[in-house]
Amino acid sequence: MKAADFAYRRPADLAGALAILSAEEGDIAPLAGGQSLMPMMNFRIAQPTMLLDLADVAELRGVTAGPDGLRIGAMTRYVQLAADPLVTQGAPLIGLALPHIAHAAIRNRGTIGGSVALADPAAEMPALLLAMAARIELVSLSGRRVVAADDFFLGLYETARAPDELVAAIHIPADASRRRVGFYELARRHGDYAMAGVALTAGGATGQPLASPRIAFFGLSDRAVRATGAEAALKDAQPAGDTLGAAVDSLSALPINGDLHAPPDVKLKLAGVVLRRALAGM
Ligand SMILES: Cc1cc2nc3c(=O)[nH]c(=O)nc-3n(C[C@H](O)[C@H](O)[C@H](O)COP(=O)(O)OP(=O)(O)OC[C@H]3O[C@@H](n4cnc5c(N)ncnc54)[C@H](O)[C@@H]3O)c2cc1C
Repeated sequence: MKAADFAYRRPADLAGALAILSAEEGDIAPLAGGQSLMPMMNFRIAQPTMLLDLADVAELRGVTAGPDGLRIGAMTRYVQLAADPLVTQGAPLIGLALPHIAHAAIRNRGTIGGSVALADPAAEMPALLLAMAARIELVSLSGRRVVAADDFFLGLYETARAPDELVAAIHIPADASRRRVGFYELARRHGDYAMAGVALTAGGATGQPLASPRIAFFGLSDRAVRATGAEAALKDAQPAGDTLGAAVDSLSALPINGDLHAPPDVKLKLAGVVLRRALAGM
């Protein structure tokens, strides 16, 4: 099948993009890497009236480091994240997870902003941002606002972004570079969307109890979800024995949905497996 008819605009800069987004009628879809949007259009799951191609918007690209941490422009591609020492050192959790996000050809085009804006429940990036306490910068003609990842992912492909806003950047806090990180996912084939996965960060030195752990799952629910029960069970504790058992037991309180891969009870079992394996690697 081919995409339904659509208009196409390719503004030269951010001001031009925001002007179109604000002034034009209809369903305007920003186009980033197109790795999700184009297949969705070809299957007619998405039928935007206009594609707003962000390829020339230089203001949305690039990574900068400051005292508060990293600012990663929305149009920064996965392949660029993997190659940038600012990212691999400032956000080691992203470096750990990137090889598991899709396949190399998709990482060559796919962007961090596209993944965040799409909010696929099985995508890694929303869970990584929850685990790092990252923030999402949104921009419109009315100005800029920054939303905590905890408040950004609202449901199935649903976010706090308003239709006249673009995702401008992702902010990673400075302490993300110092926290211990863990990641594990189970997928049918490497590069496929995960059946279940988890991303973790915690303070404290290796081998010491986990200080203020943040644990986020993907592939389980209608969105990436924090496992606050497991965080409470593991706080200031060694992830072993009864403590680990209590953390795994607490996962039954998560809002777990079945999907094409597995029913909810199997997903719950997989959640416990990925949590144990991610903690073992920290
Ligand atoms: C075979 C295959 C396997 C994949 N496997 C995985 C996987 O394992 N894990 C994973 O996470 N992803 C996976 N993906 C998806 C891939 O990572 C996508 O590239 C990514 O999710 C979206 O990024 P994009 O830049 O391509 O966005 P696009 O496809 O261009 O856009 C995605 C959505 O975000 C909107 N959007 C884009 N940028 C902005 C912006 N700056 N502001 C506001 N809205 C915006 C678009 O309008 C669209 O609705 C896979 C894709 C394919 C085709």
